Amino acid sequence: MQNPTNDAVAAKIAALEGGVGAMLTSSGQAANFYAVFNICEAGDHLVCSSTIYGGTFNLFSVTLKKLGIDCTFIDADAPDEEIEKAFRPNTKCLFGEIISNPSINVLDIEKFARIAHKHGVPLIVDNTFATPINCRPFEWGADIVTHSTTKYMDGHATCVGGAIVDSGNFDWMAHADKFPGLTTPDESYHGLTYAKAFGKMAYITKATAQLMRDLGSIQSPENAFLLNLGLETLHLRMQRHCENAQQVAEWLEAQPKVKWVNYCGLKSSKYYELAQKYLPNGSCGVIAFGLEGTREDAIRFMDHLQLACIVTHVADARTCVLHPASHTHRQLTDEQLKEAGVAPDLIRLSVGIENVNDIIADLQQAMGTI
Ligand SMILES: *Cc1c(COP(=O)(O)O)cnc(C)c1O
Repeated sequence: MQNPTNDAVAAKIAALEGGVGAMLTSSGQAANFYAVFNICEAGDHLVCSSTIYGGTFNLFSVTLKKLGIDCTFIDADAPDEEIEKAFRPNTKCLFGEIISNPSINVLDIEKFARIAHKHGVPLIVDNTFATPINCRPFEWGADIVTHSTTKYMDGHATCVGGAIVDSGNFDWMAHADKFPGLTTPDESYHGLTYAKAFGKMAYITKATAQLMRDLGSIQSPENAFLLNLGLETLHLRMQRHCENAQQVAEWLEAQPKVKWVNYCGLKSSKYYELAQKYLPNGSCGVIAFGLEGTREDAIRFMDHLQLACIVTHVADARTCVLHPASHTHRQLTDEQLKEAGVAPDLIRLSVGIENVNDIIADLQQAMGTI
């Protein structure tokens, strides 16, 4: 449950987010699973934005269901009343991604926090794409933040990892009936009641002392050491990712062979206003766009890229590209794809920190082949 390297890196991530404590996990999947499982058990329910990472969508819709935990997916852009209809007496949390992977929608965190708190449950925000350099969800009312550190935080595809950060702000005792795991004694942990014994550290202490102890998924200290190297340059890389992505998005938007571009730094984006509010210094390096023409044209374009690699990975220092409908989201039906905000022609371009002229030149020559 403790290792000096992991503890130092967790403390650094907690400080970056402005939280009271953090726990490192072996993957982002483990982080999101533990974040929910720490307060949900069989018979419970959660509400979640439908535009989230495919792996998390599957975890919540299929695997949690097998554990007796139900999830209702909602349109994050819907008005309060619409979203509130999904809440039940046994709902234990609301979940969303600050910038959704791969559709690049921006979450209205204040709206989500308002709805969650009105129903006496915490808001959990996956902050993987923005990182605390560009957004600190706790400042907008989120209670718990999760990360796939595999992405920008590591930045170099050296290791898979995750983190959960606790703001310490959610008052578990005020909703004691909803969260017995935190507000009644844990016989397997010295008969302590987490919310009484650990105060603001209750949630993160339970996650470590109970879930990590029993289920594992710890981050290897060697990986935490490598993650720390990434964290030391995160502020420089994020700035460059955002500068490059803004230029690439503007260039793409001006191309006749490009059908649509979604990047929240573009004035044409549906999420421009929300991005100005929550991500004033930039969002991330990831752009979603679609090409004119057939599916074969999109494949030809991707095959001709020389600098950008076709990889499932995203949010890396090197530019990479993916067609989710045939990769990360291939387990979803067409209906679920649409629900997850993934158009069949969506190309996810993860703009790296190379010279932006080289990135654009590569896109230009590949586009010339279609
Ligand atoms: C990749 C990703 C995850 C899952 O993280 P892994 O480290 O790959 O397990 C969760 N959330 C988001 C937003 C992601 O991009």
